Amino acid sequence: MNHKALTKTHLKLLTDIFPGQSMTVQPAEMLIYGTDAGKRFSMPQAVVRPERTEQVQELMRMAQQERIPVVTRARGTNVVSACVPHQGGIVLSCLQMNKILSINSDDFTAHVQPGVVTHDLQQEVLKKGLLYPPDPASKKFCTIGGNIATNAGGMSAVKYGVTKDYVLGLEAVLPGGEIIKTGGRLHKNVVGYDLTKLLTGSEGSLGVIVKACLKLLPVPEASASILVCFENEAHALQGVMAVFRAGILPCAMEFMPKEVMQCLSEYGPVPWPEKAAACLIIRLDGSAACLEQEITKLRSALQDVLYFDMAMGEDEEHIWEIRRLINPASFKLGPDKVSDDVVVPRGEILRAIKGIRTIGKKFGLKILAFGHIGDGNIHVNFMHDKSIEGEQQKVSSAREEVLRLVLSLEGSISGEHGVGLSKKAYLSWQLRDKELQIMRDIKKVFDPYNILNPGTGV
Ligand SMILES: Cc1cc2nc3c(=O)[nH]c(=O)nc-3n(C[C@H](O)[C@H](O)[C@H](O)COP(=O)(O)OP(=O)(O)OC[C@H]3O[C@@H](n4cnc5c(N)ncnc54)[C@H](O)[C@@H]3O)c2cc1C
Repeated sequence: MNHKALTKTHLKLLTDIFPGQSMTVQPAEMLIYGTDAGKRFSMPQAVVRPERTEQVQELMRMAQQERIPVVTRARGTNVVSACVPHQGGIVLSCLQMNKILSINSDDFTAHVQPGVVTHDLQQEVLKKGLLYPPDPASKKFCTIGGNIATNAGGMSAVKYGVTKDYVLGLEAVLPGGEIIKTGGRLHKNVVGYDLTKLLTGSEGSLGVIVKACLKLLPVPEASASILVCFENEAHALQGVMAVFRAGILPCAMEFMPKEVMQCLSEYGPVPWPEKAAACLIIRLDGSAACLEQEITKLRSALQDVLYFDMAMGEDEEHIWEIRRLINPASFKLGPDKVSDDVVVPRGEILRAIKGIRTIGKKFGLKILAFGHIGDGNIHVNFMHDKSIEGEQQKVSSAREEVLRLVLSLEGSISGEHGVGLSKKAYLSWQLRDKELQIMRDIKKVFDPYNILNPGTGV
């Protein structure tokens, strides 16, 4: 349901808080703020671009008093329509709050505003020999605030964890305008409930993050990437288990089944022999001496290998280029794509991949399932052509079967992308009434009048 029109008084208040270019109600300018990578659209009633925390506070004070929805957004790269203002209201863009405030090499911390682009922060800390590990594939164009609000993960999650593992403290403005400060420069802190973790992954529904203190690590001395191909999936999966059992914790471990390899080979030249039907891309890092030992261990742990290629340092990129080509190559199978990012326990991956293949056959759909095998996170891409009658319905039925399959394997319907509007209908498939009720009660404590990102997430 759309929020009623903003009054002249509202607009006057907004222009007082956001002078000049920091606010707009021009439809042409607001168009882009009505959508995100989830592709739904709804026109905002106003867009504001604060530069200071006080502006966010004043906005939230007014919005709560007047019961106007506020939808916080950054780069809009989330794929679940988590920042589409589908009930109207004001879109708050955090992109003008984009400063790296400090990098502290003694604490191994960085203080940042939410609109800093993730890759920019990584490059800045690298200059001081420090590492900010979370690495969503979108890192060159998404922000720290968006990453915190979605608890973004990436390929290196298997060793380094996800965004929540690097958020030490937050400052957030609540509906009503009050600021809360959680955590701080501390690497350990067990006083009270962990509000930092609660805000992390809350998809903008509890408060507007205006500052974050992030944990940094030392940069590892050396790294190596390995492409290893097998004759069948069972061998590849045995390889995964063998690597972990050998005591190796890779910083990335990606899996590609035969459908993906075939799609890549139709797209361009590939290095593996024709017989190869599954492959792993593994990245190791650490001290040069440890790395050498781990490579030796890994070589002896992997059995039934058809093809092996290894690169170190800057040369590693040619191996990862193969992984990056999956997205463009996938469109050879169909002009349209619906993607899910399900997770299963690592021991259930083979069952999940086979089950997804069976569902694809049942619906006559081309489904590419591949991904972060090290942490059980599988990207499921339903390739189709929506101009063909009935195709979209087939995708949505197949998608529901995949989600049910994953839940039957004790998995989760999302490992990275979150709930937003896209997965809301399936929440009760995974969470029981009591858990959902607790989450909704928490939302009421933070946002009693449901003005922040209303209707998305839980
Ligand atoms: C090509 C591509 C690759 C991707 N790869 C990955 C991946 O590997 N891993 C992964 O996890 N995701 C991935 N994503 C999804 C997306 O990039 C992440 O969800 C990212 O964290 C969103 O960041 P953003 O700056 O674009 O935030 P937005 O999309 O603008 O916002 C995302 C959510 O955060 C909230 N939000 C934003 N800023 C704030 C703030 N300051 N305070 C409170 N709430 C806020 C919004 O309300 C919304 O709910 C990918 C997306 C694309 C398009």
